[in-house]
Amino acid sequence: MEIYLDANATTPVLPQARAAALAAMSEDFGNPSSIHSTGLKARALMDAVRARAQRLLGAGAGQLLFTSGATEGIQTAVLSALRALRARRDAGESIGSLLLYGATEHKAVPEALKHWNELLGLGLEVRAIPVGRDGRHDLAWLALQAPRAGLVCTMAANNETGVVSDLDGIEQALGASRTFWMVDGVQGLGKLEMRLASRRIDYAPFSGHKLYAPKGIGLLYVREGAPVTPLLAGGGQEGALRSGTENMSGIAALGAVLAALEDGQTFRDTATLARYRDRLAETLQAAFPGLVFNAPLDFSLPTTLNFAVPGLSSKLLLDLFDAADVRVSGGSACSAAKAQPSFVLQAMGLPEWQTAAAVRLSFGPAADEQLIAEACARIRACGESLRESCLTGTVAQEGTPLTPITRYVVDGACCWLLADPASRTAIVIDPLPELNERLERLLRCQDYRLLAVLDTHSHGDHASSGQALREALPDRLLHAEVDALGWPLGIDTLHLGNQTLRRLALPGHTADSTAYLLGQGTQVRVAFVGDTVMPGALGRTDFPVSEPLALRDSLRRLADALQPGSLLAPGHDYENRFATTLGTEAAHQPLLAGALNGSLDALGLASAKAEFERGLGLTEYQTMACGARVCSGPEAAPELDARGLRQLLRQHPEALLVDVREPYEQRLSLLPELGEVRLQAVPLSVLVDQLPQWLALPAETPVVFFCRSGNRSEQAARALRRLGHEAAYTLAGGLALWPQCEPGLEAALYV
Ligand code: PLP
Repeated sequence: MEIYLDANATTPVLPQARAAALAAMSEDFGNPSSIHSTGLKARALMDAVRARAQRLLGAGAGQLLFTSGATEGIQTAVLSALRALRARRDAGESIGSLLLYGATEHKAVPEALKHWNELLGLGLEVRAIPVGRDGRHDLAWLALQAPRAGLVCTMAANNETGVVSDLDGIEQALGASRTFWMVDGVQGLGKLEMRLASRRIDYAPFSGHKLYAPKGIGLLYVREGAPVTPLLAGGGQEGALRSGTENMSGIAALGAVLAALEDGQTFRDTATLARYRDRLAETLQAAFPGLVFNAPLDFSLPTTLNFAVPGLSSKLLLDLFDAADVRVSGGSACSAAKAQPSFVLQAMGLPEWQTAAAVRLSFGPAADEQLIAEACARIRACGESLRESCLTGTVAQEGTPLTPITRYVVDGACCWLLADPASRTAIVIDPLPELNERLERLLRCQDYRLLAVLDTHSHGDHASSGQALREALPDRLLHAEVDALGWPLGIDTLHLGNQTLRRLALPGHTADSTAYLLGQGTQVRVAFVGDTVMPGALGRTDFPVSEPLALRDSLRRLADALQPGSLLAPGHDYENRFATTLGTEAAHQPLLAGALNGSLDALGLASAKAEFERGLGLTEYQTMACGARVCSGPEAAPELDARGLRQLLRQHPEALLVDVREPYEQRLSLLPELGEVRLQAVPLSVLVDQLPQWLALPAETPVVFFCRSGNRSEQAARALRRLGHEAAYTLAGGLALWPQCEPGLEAALYV
C-alpha cells in the first residue's frame, strides 16, 4: 500500500469530491450560462460553492473568481495590480519604484512579476523581501521599503518548509503605504484561518488540488474595490472578469471539499494534526541519527516537515522512501549530475549541505491515525535498512558484505573503494571530502582495516581528503607512513586478499599522475587511471600542450601494461560510463588512437588539440565535461516496456534481469511477478565489479537492467553497450511503471 506524504505537491481527490465531479459530468452537466433548467441547476451549484468559499475564507464583500488554479490567479492579480499602477502613473501619481515578493515565494510569483512588468513596460524593480533563519519575512526591512512599493507579494504558508507567514505583522509593516498586497493562499487553504476581508489583502489565489479537489480548479479572491484586469476575454463569464465556460466538475468537487471543511467531520483539527506531525518527527529522529529540521516546527503548518540527514543526499533518501512505498519529495531539484540546492532554504541562510540534502514530508488534514501509524512503521524500516547498509549508526555489525569494487560519485568525480571481505582489508582511491564520513562509518561498521588511501594525482579541482580520512581512522590504518599520494613507504605491492595493487607512473596530465593496477600477477583486472583517460571524452587526454609527449608515452606504457579486457576506472565520469577500455576509447577518440599507434607526433598532438578547442570555442575544462557528447555522440540504450520484456524473455529464457537499485532499497520492496527468470542484484555503485562477467556472456544473451524510475538502469545499459555487449536493455520507467507490483518474490529470486 502506498503511503502518500507529498500533500504540498498535490493531494488525492476526496471520495465525495470525486462523486460530485462525476455528477457534474453526468446528470448535472449543464452550462451555468444556459437559461434553461439544466443550466439553472448548474448555476445554482456554482453559486452555492462560491457562497461557501466566501464564508470559509472570510471574503466578506470581496469577489471570488473561479480559475484554473493558483498560477492563473497569480497572473490575474499581478496583471491587475500592475495595470492599475500604470494607470496611476499615467495620471501623474507616484507609484513607487519597487515590486516586492518574499524570497521564499513559489516561482510563479517572481516570474509573473517579471513577466507582466516587462509586458506592460513598467520598468519597476522586482526585489525579494529577505527572510530570517526561521523563514519569516524581515518585517523591519519591509516597513522601510513599503512606502516605495507598488505591489507586495507574500505567501500564507511556504510550500517547501510549511513556515507560516505573520500576515498581521506584514500588514502592520505595510503601514500607510498605498501598495497593493497579494497573498498566495495556496498552502493555507483548509489549514489556516484566512480572514481575507478583515485584512487589507487585495488579492489571494488558491488551488483546489492542494486540498483534495482535482487539478485545474482554483479561486482568486479580489478585495472589494480592488482593480481587476481579465486575463481571459470572451463570453463574459465570471462577471466578464474571467471568460470561458466554467470547469463545472472542478467547481462541484471543490464545493464538496469546502462542505467537508465546514461539516467538521472529514478533516482533523490543528491540535490532532500537530500531534501527528510530532509523532512523525520523533520517528524520523530515531530512525535517522543526526537528522535536523530545516524550519522551526513552532512556526510551521502542522502538516509539513522539512529535514536533512548529515551524509545522506536527498536523492538517496527519496530512493529509500520510494522503495518502502512512501512518497515524499526532495526539498531540492535533482539533476543527473548535481543536486540543485533549494532556493527557499538558501534564502533562509541554512548551511549548504542542508539546502542540498533537504527532504519534504507533507500530509493533508484528512490524514488519519492509520496513515500516521503505517508511515511511522515504514520510516522505522527505512532507518533499519540504512543501518544494515552501514549508512547510519556506528555500531559494528555484519551488514551486507562489501563488494570488491565500489564506485562513489560526487558531481562527476569518482572515488573507488576496493575491499577484500575475507581479510577485511580495504583501499580507497581518490577520496572526496563529501564521502569521508560515510567511508569512515562504513569501514568501522563492517570492521575493515585500511591498507591505503591513495590519490591518482594532485587534483586540480578539489582537495584530496586522504589525510583527513587517515586521521579519522588511526586505529584501522595498516601503514601510517605514506608518500604524497598516500602510498605506504617502503612497499612495492599492496596485497588485497589474493589480488595485488601496483603503481604505474603516468606523467602527462600532471607530473605525478599514477595508475593503480589491480589484478593477479601481470594480469590487470582494473586500472584506476585518475584523469589520464576519461571515458568518452577527450578529457584529460586532450594532451596539454606543455606535456604532449610525456602523456603520449604514458598512454603507450599503460597500453603495454594492460590486457585487452582490462577495465579502466576513471577519476571523473561526467556522463556515467562507469569504466572503459583502451580499445573502446581508441575507437571513440582519434587523438588517443593516434597517440597509441604513434601516428601523431608532438606537433600533431598540439595542433590537433588547438584546432579542436578553437573549433568549439571551449576551455579545457568544458572540453572535458562535454567532450563525451562531442566526440562520441549519444549512445542511448534500447528501452523495453513490460510487454517488450515479457516478449524478450519468451525468446531468450537465458536473459539476465539486473536490479541496479542499492541494497537499502532492495531490502524494502517486493518485486513484481516475473516468472522463471535469472535475476541478479547488482547495485549501480558496484556495477564495475560485475562488468567483466557480463562482457564475457555470449553476444546474444540479453542483459536487462531495471531500477526505481529507469534512470539508473539506463546508465547501466548504456555503459555495458558502450563496452561492447550490444544486447543490453533498460526497463523504461522502472518499477514505478510496472503494471502490478504485487508480492511475487518467490518466483523472482536473485541468482
Ligand atoms: N503557490 C504555492 C505556494 C504553491 O505551492 C503552488 C503549487 O505548488 C502554486 C502557487 C502554484 O499552484 P498551481 O500549480 O496549482 O497553479
